[in-house]
Amino acid sequence: MTPDEIHARVVDQYTQHVNPYLAKLMNFAGFGVEIRAQGCLLIDHEGREYLDFLGGYGVFSFGHSHPVIVDAVRRQLDEMALSGKVFFNPRLAELAERLTRIAPRGLEYVFFSNSGAEAVEAALKFAKGATGRSKIISTEGSYHGKTLGALSTTGREKYRKPFEPLMPGAEFVPFGCFDSMTRAVDGQTAAVIIEPIQGEGGIHVAPEGYLTLIRELCDRHGALMIADEVQTGLGRTGKLFGCDLEGVKPDLMTLAKALGGGIMPIGATLGTAAVWEKIYSVNPLAHTSTFGGNPLACAAAIAALEVLEADCLADRAEQIGEMLKSRLQQVQAMHPDLVTEVRGRGLMLGVEFAMDEVGELAIAQMTKRGLVAAYTLNNPRVIRFEPPLILEEEQLEQAIQIFDEALTEVEDILAALV
Ligand SMILES: *Cc1c(COP(=O)(O)O)cnc(C)c1O
Repeated sequence: MTPDEIHARVVDQYTQHVNPYLAKLMNFAGFGVEIRAQGCLLIDHEGREYLDFLGGYGVFSFGHSHPVIVDAVRRQLDEMALSGKVFFNPRLAELAERLTRIAPRGLEYVFFSNSGAEAVEAALKFAKGATGRSKIISTEGSYHGKTLGALSTTGREKYRKPFEPLMPGAEFVPFGCFDSMTRAVDGQTAAVIIEPIQGEGGIHVAPEGYLTLIRELCDRHGALMIADEVQTGLGRTGKLFGCDLEGVKPDLMTLAKALGGGIMPIGATLGTAAVWEKIYSVNPLAHTSTFGGNPLACAAAIAALEVLEADCLADRAEQIGEMLKSRLQQVQAMHPDLVTEVRGRGLMLGVEFAMDEVGELAIAQMTKRGLVAAYTLNNPRVIRFEPPLILEEEQLEQAIQIFDEALTEVEDILAALV
């Protein structure tokens, strides 16, 4: 098949059997078919290479097809892939030990699942079960997943409204507002669920002291603090965990995206001994998952944690993130009418535009030139840059040049319109 035929066939299959409305959007945006990926590069059906500066919304912290992680999964595949579910699973045990060793103190136990939403579902269920309360405080613009429970706490009406009534008890406060949070948490509150940096909301960093305030409010009212680190976890922000930005220790913490090393899907919910006792002492099978913690996924995650530590990727995210941020700010200075702000921490950066349409145009121009990024689901004015933490300086410079050229072309297009 020619590249054009491959593209046409996949678009047709999407249209006939996956999601015709999404297919139309993607086709309109000019997206190709992904065939291979290596390191920071995506390769499409025409053999064209793209710098991946979206990184699968945080999945590819270790880049694509990291050889050490691929090798660990291959070796595990030769032994056994999925758990028989009756005997002890040694990979699951080892991963749990390793995760709790690097997690904020107090998080001693781990429940494994297969995705971010599942990790959030477990955290919400544990919080309700452990406190006997049902009120959950979340924030506007937050993203915690799209399964019914997680969706109930996702701070965007557009995704919730068509499916109401959802899980009762969820309430939303503006992200970063100390007063609203203080008023919301009370003796009925089971948990506050919070992203240390809102990803889909448009890359909003919690203002200094916000996470500490939430910790104090939860302590005062006997509520639990859930840190949703599905995107911020494992070095992305320049710290191992987003909570480490303030040294805050949550009662429950969710991980997924980067945890599988960009090779396998896996989710994890970490919790304290107090929570585990409440949930599991009465019924050791109170919450389970057939595929959660399977040997293949755990082998990938164990190898990923080894690479994270051996290559000091959190420090690297901090250093190269600073560099990327200042280079993006230089591009902003050259296009002051288009770009209003560059923000974020580590390699979780957002560029905000003056108008929604600019984001769309810029993405199209960037893709055309071989640079992949995307706007945030909840905020089309913001483009996110979340490249692999293994990003090389040379690739960074290449991306900056493309971004600058793309914005220049956007200016030309807009000028032609008036
Ligand atoms: C992506 C994400 C989720 C949902 O993860 P899925 O694997 O897509 O279900 C939940 N919380 C945060 C913070 C996320 O970024």
